[in-house]
Amino acid sequence: MSAHILPAFDSPQALKPFFPTEKEPWETLPLFVKKKNVQLLLGVFPLWTQLERSFSRTVRTLGVPVLSLPSERIALVPTLVRDLPVGKIVATSRDLPALERMSSTHAPMRDLIFHIVLTPEERPIISSLQIVFEVHLVPGAVGLFQCEALASKKELLFHLSSRFYWEFEDQTLLVTDDARTARFSQAPLPLHYKKRNAPCPCGHQVVLLI
Ligand SMILES: [Zn+2]
Repeated sequence: MSAHILPAFDSPQALKPFFPTEKEPWETLPLFVKKKNVQLLLGVFPLWTQLERSFSRTVRTLGVPVLSLPSERIALVPTLVRDLPVGKIVATSRDLPALERMSSTHAPMRDLIFHIVLTPEERPIISSLQIVFEVHLVPGAVGLFQCEALASKKELLFHLSSRFYWEFEDQTLLVTDDARTARFSQAPLPLHYKKRNAPCPCGHQVVLLI
């Protein structure tokens, strides 16, 4: 078994091991690329997160053209959207305010779907953009995610990745790697939740983060 050593969101200087599955290093991307028939996927990531590596590798296996920009070059996004068939932008919450500002003055960006990566400490931001949020436990490791039906509700509703074991303790979520070789957090993650009994149309269990 091989592990990737990735930075922790809460402390980029700290490193955490992550054991990716070879088939789906970034498990939610195949779902959205296939469903939306995306022609070109654009990623904008801070360099230190190392998200670009997982992003590009996953998208290439799907046969979809991919472009990646470091966050420092985010000013190029409107030009790329104007000149290329970008169907979706994947970025982190750090770059969301800049993307929102650009969308307010560049009309073609308003038709895009934005796929935004949150840290466990962050919560979705209400926005006029079409946004699908997902929470990564470490960069590239999807813990909680939204399908499009859930995202359209614009609430703090998420599905839990089947990639991990989830334990419900009071109202705190505990997560363990499926190989049980690495615990992501010795302390509970800052994910407090309420279970929703009604399942999502996509069939996944729904939790409301609080
Ligand atoms: Zn769903």
